[in-house]
Amino acid sequence: IRFVIGLGSCGIAAGAKDLYGELASKIENNPDVSLSHTSCNGMCFKEPILEVFYPDGNHLMMGNVHKKDLDKILDPLLNQGAIDEKFIIEDSSKPDRREDFRQKQHKIVLENCGIIDPDDIAPYIKKGGYEAVKKVLGTMSPQQVIEEIKTSGLRGRGGAGFPTGLKWQFARNSTGEKKYMICNADEGDPGAFMDRAVLEGDPHKVIEGLIIGGYAIGAEHGYVYVRAEYPLAIKRLKLAISQATEKNLLGHNILNSEFSFHLKIKEGAGAFVCGEETALIASIEGERGHPRLKPPFPAGSGLWGYPTNINNVETLASVPWIINNGAKIYASYGTEKSKGTKVFSLAGKIARGGLIEVDMGTPLRDIIYTIGGGTSSGKPFKAVQLGGPSGGCVPERLLDTPVDYESISVTGAIMGSGGMVVMDDDTCIVDVAKFFLTFTQNESCGKCTFCRIGTKRLLEILEKITEGRGGMADLDELESLSEKVKDLSLCGLGKTAPNPIMTTLKYFKDEYVEHIKENK
Ligand code: SF4
Repeated sequence: IRFVIGLGSCGIAAGAKDLYGELASKIENNPDVSLSHTSCNGMCFKEPILEVFYPDGNHLMMGNVHKKDLDKILDPLLNQGAIDEKFIIEDSSKPDRREDFRQKQHKIVLENCGIIDPDDIAPYIKKGGYEAVKKVLGTMSPQQVIEEIKTSGLRGRGGAGFPTGLKWQFARNSTGEKKYMICNADEGDPGAFMDRAVLEGDPHKVIEGLIIGGYAIGAEHGYVYVRAEYPLAIKRLKLAISQATEKNLLGHNILNSEFSFHLKIKEGAGAFVCGEETALIASIEGERGHPRLKPPFPAGSGLWGYPTNINNVETLASVPWIINNGAKIYASYGTEKSKGTKVFSLAGKIARGGLIEVDMGTPLRDIIYTIGGGTSSGKPFKAVQLGGPSGGCVPERLLDTPVDYESISVTGAIMGSGGMVVMDDDTCIVDVAKFFLTFTQNESCGKCTFCRIGTKRLLEILEKITEGRGGMADLDELESLSEKVKDLSLCGLGKTAPNPIMTTLKYFKDEYVEHIKENK
């Protein structure tokens, strides 16, 4: 019998480490039982999760199992006896019983998360890991790799949605003594935890994507820029880098080929603006994380002036699958312009909060209701904030919007990196706008006037309204100042900071008016 416990950050926060320790001590003298760990399988709402694999092939997945429950369930677990139904998520002997959360999902990026032990390279290799590196080094030219990624239609999952193959082409076409390949793991949106979960659950997949990208653009040096607030992700990534180096998958002459790739980790200090690529580069160089004007673009002059390519964690984690399975198969998923799958984190007032992966084009309604189970309070759904503080609020009447770059932007929100924060009827929408604006105002680096001062003025108006000092003229001011901040800020942070105000004014203006009238 094999027990497996999920030890991602969500599991640990729910008590999985205590459960692990208790179970380990209870079975230490039993030679027929083993215990190992994996990471988050997406069902954060069921943590701590305990899985049991029986020698006859049967499998049991249980949720919300705590240390205190072990005395009650260990004996029936070891003897395949009856377990309290409240713990059971899935039971292979009852295949029709499937957790609703797992429906409508399609896992490519998350295919190994919650399945393999992320601290060991062996299970990753057993599941076909590093086959894509072998394939590109052994049988493909760098240009063929780029063409494959272009054919896949993969677009940047960090938020902007720029075609990855084209980005790689620009970096390949640039000349320089050296080139750099960077993974942007500076995930900072409130409510977003996709990158953390991928790094904690399947770090080798991201490393493999980086090696392939480095080979394609001609970079022999790479960085993973990861926020220091993600200690478990950093720990697992460091271990994965040392394991890959030992197996000659990183370092000089990878797998005895002509290609060398050296990878380092740079821990970011938590400034949201360092997710912007020129600020990220400045931060690695040891400068303040200030964005700079483009051009020059990093593809031509990036880290220390050398051609540099930056991709987000999810983008890179999609690459090995594309190389192994073929770009055309990847492109057959999703919509005409948004191919493949997308990972989202479901947070806020949602019944089944966690990490999901769906085909691009899946309607928001399926995500919120079929997968997420609707609101956690049972009260009517009000809105979902997409794309974090740079995104916008999408109301109930637009829930049939498919999640793809184009359709989401029509609503006024943005896909962003994939954070979804659900709100029910009790949520004050003006407070939501104020919350996100407080965040962006605090995170503004202060370099340009409209972002530095404009967001402050916007926040002051929102405070005035919620404190009962607002008037109808403030709504016009909010609208016109939002437009100016959007148009006249230098980087994405300022350009998107007014989005939560603009979308809430568009869809919930009556709530702003109510605040004003109530206080007259
Ligand atoms: Fe800094 Fe804001 Fe200007 Fe971006 S828009 S450079 S965050 S002040």
